[in-house]
Amino acid sequence: MMLSSLNVDLAAIARNYLYLKNKLGNGTDCAAVVKADAYGLGAAAVAPALYAQNCRHFFVAHTSEAFDLPQLGESGKTDAAIYILNGLTGSDPREIAAKGFVPVLNTLTDIETWATVAAGKPAVLHIDTGMNRLGLGGRDVEELSTRKDLLQKIDLRYVMSHLACADESSHPKNAAQLKAFRTLSAALDRPCRLSLANSSGIFLGVDYHFDLVRPGCALYGINPVEDGNPMQGVITLKARILQVREIKESSTVGYGATYTINPPALTATISVGYADGYLRSLTGHGRVCVNGVRRPIVGRVSMDTIVVDITGMADIKQGDWVELIGEHLPVDAVAKSAGTIGYEILTNLGNRYHRVYTN
Ligand SMILES: *Cc1c(COP(=O)(O)O)cnc(C)c1O
Repeated sequence: MMLSSLNVDLAAIARNYLYLKNKLGNGTDCAAVVKADAYGLGAAAVAPALYAQNCRHFFVAHTSEAFDLPQLGESGKTDAAIYILNGLTGSDPREIAAKGFVPVLNTLTDIETWATVAAGKPAVLHIDTGMNRLGLGGRDVEELSTRKDLLQKIDLRYVMSHLACADESSHPKNAAQLKAFRTLSAALDRPCRLSLANSSGIFLGVDYHFDLVRPGCALYGINPVEDGNPMQGVITLKARILQVREIKESSTVGYGATYTINPPALTATISVGYADGYLRSLTGHGRVCVNGVRRPIVGRVSMDTIVVDITGMADIKQGDWVELIGEHLPVDAVAKSAGTIGYEILTNLGNRYHRVYTN
């Protein structure tokens, strides 16, 4: 009945969280970024697992994601802060305020709105230091510093910014953004706690940690640094073999007849495809692990199936499981084969997988 399964190791996520937390100084808190359904792994299970490790700061991107999070903690009122990175656009600020969610205010318009309809309620201020994506620019900060009345109406929890090149530790942009962050946050002329680092930013050193770090990918096992991955793998993705085929004469495999296979050969057709987020760009590059051995995909990835060359593995049969991501095939390696990054592999994991959460 079950054709494919996604195992999420919540204990590994917990260990990754504690590993990151251990790198921080005394005054620094460790948040968890659980946007996009915890990078596709399922925020409903991931967020409570991190809460159990005493994580009390959770970042989502959309307001709807904040509403979708499960109750964190025992009783009706939670002691966890839930921050909304994409701010107020498209949301009713009264609803956000009533729920006690903490919006990240990215524009002067956001700030004015929050000061008007949610005076005295908590918010985070985002300043741009070189990413040029979201947050107040230098001139906005200047203007804001002359409007003390406006900032006074906001319970300012953090001033944050985001690093563009933290995964390249020697990139000069890192130091430049750090400097800009110090300058711009000071220009607000209001003492406030600060937050700059994502996962990779944590590994740039304590100068980048400030009061709160915001790791996402590293919690989920993606490598945040350039060399050996210090994080533990979190997911195991498996699918079943639907058919084993003996190739007795030279023939092509799959759509477009782009791959020719020569006899004698053996192929296995596996129940996974691009509709499961198993990217079509893995055509010609992807490998799966059959009985502990990596075997190449032959022919194009199609919507619900792939075909793998298992020549010489006579004991493999219909119904057997193969590994697509896991111990032998780390998510970063699969991403590289697909010409993308681990983030995109995880956030594309489809909902046809039978999901299992282990502790
Ligand atoms: C997604 C995001 C993070 C987490 O980044 P990772 O690289 O996954 O650790 C942190 N801060 C902001 C603003 C983000 O958008």
